[in-house]
Amino acid sequence: MKTRVLVTGAGGFIGHHLVRYLVERGYWVRGVDLKEPEFEPTVAHEFVRLDLREFPNCVAAVEGVEEVYHLAADMGGIGYITAYHADIARNSALINLHMLEAARQAGVSRFLFSSSACVYPRYRQDTPDVIPLREEDAWPADPEPGYGLEKLFAEEMCRYYREDHGLETRVVRFHNVYGPLGTYEGGKEKAPAAICRKVALARDGDEIEVWGDGKQTRSFMYIDDCVEGIYRIMRSDYPHPLNLGTDRLVTIDELVDIVCRIAGKRLRKRYDPSKPQGVRGRNSDNTRLREVLGWEPQVPLEVGLERTYRWIEEELRRAGRLPVADRVAR
Ligand code: NAD
Repeated sequence: MKTRVLVTGAGGFIGHHLVRYLVERGYWVRGVDLKEPEFEPTVAHEFVRLDLREFPNCVAAVEGVEEVYHLAADMGGIGYITAYHADIARNSALINLHMLEAARQAGVSRFLFSSSACVYPRYRQDTPDVIPLREEDAWPADPEPGYGLEKLFAEEMCRYYREDHGLETRVVRFHNVYGPLGTYEGGKEKAPAAICRKVALARDGDEIEVWGDGKQTRSFMYIDDCVEGIYRIMRSDYPHPLNLGTDRLVTIDELVDIVCRIAGKRLRKRYDPSKPQGVRGRNSDNTRLREVLGWEPQVPLEVGLERTYRWIEEELRRAGRLPVADRVAR
């Protein structure tokens, strides 16, 4: 008998990749989301469209499963999470509260919550050469408004459910995940995908827009490392929040330069400081991750970006937005 698991947010970027990973590992997987995956069909054994803000839908989602990978959230890049504090916090709070309670009532054995580096206080992230963030740095709290504050609240709810009800919770703080099959335009895309799209659409010598002054820093994790890390954390016996990211800090300028090299294009940058750019610098301290798992993300940024860029380029070409001749010339 296969172990039956639920992945919420299975129509989204990380959830879709995680479904495939778990199916390949021999699990029976139910995927739940508001929408089907955007770019290829799901391989989940069962895929149900449900709005998880509604408690009865959460009850239906967890029915008959042993473990829950809970990834559903109202989520987007910095432009999106800066613009919609009330909706994002309300939607995700409803989803998280109801999913925890439904999982408790159903007696699931493990519940993994996908948190975010956005829980970390802004006062620790005000320079580009920022000190990497340790898990305990989340308190005293001053998180990203809306999205980050709600994540921090949900992390604490996981702890309360573990302490009061014995629900085995795992809490993962993702740092900037990127890769193929992720949204790359429309307002919800993140920086690596947006940059790949802009570079792919530009012609050699063109100018592209960069949000902020390009000096802001982040670390980026490739999707294959992300799903591997999620699985390892779920299997571990560590119940407290854990960073999952790389600790290679790069500026947004460097990110653009790497993508330009992959594309073989020389482009000028036009900075737009009026656009949201989030905290000035953010990096993951992976000390605890290494201690707990004996493992950390491994895919080099250049390798992951190459795969991501090629996928976005191919999508744009398929949509008739890039000349077919481009490919022949390369
Ligand atoms: P995503 O937006 O691609 O996936 C989230 C999915 O949740 C979407 O498919 C969406 O339709 C679904 N969803 C939203 N509201 C729902 C509802 N009411 N009922 C059912 N489903 C609903 O985002 P992602 O990048 O795959 O992120 C997955 C998780 O990881 C999220 O919890 C996110 O906050 C977290 N996270 C992601 C990153 C990142 O870099 N991608 C960083 C930090 C945290």
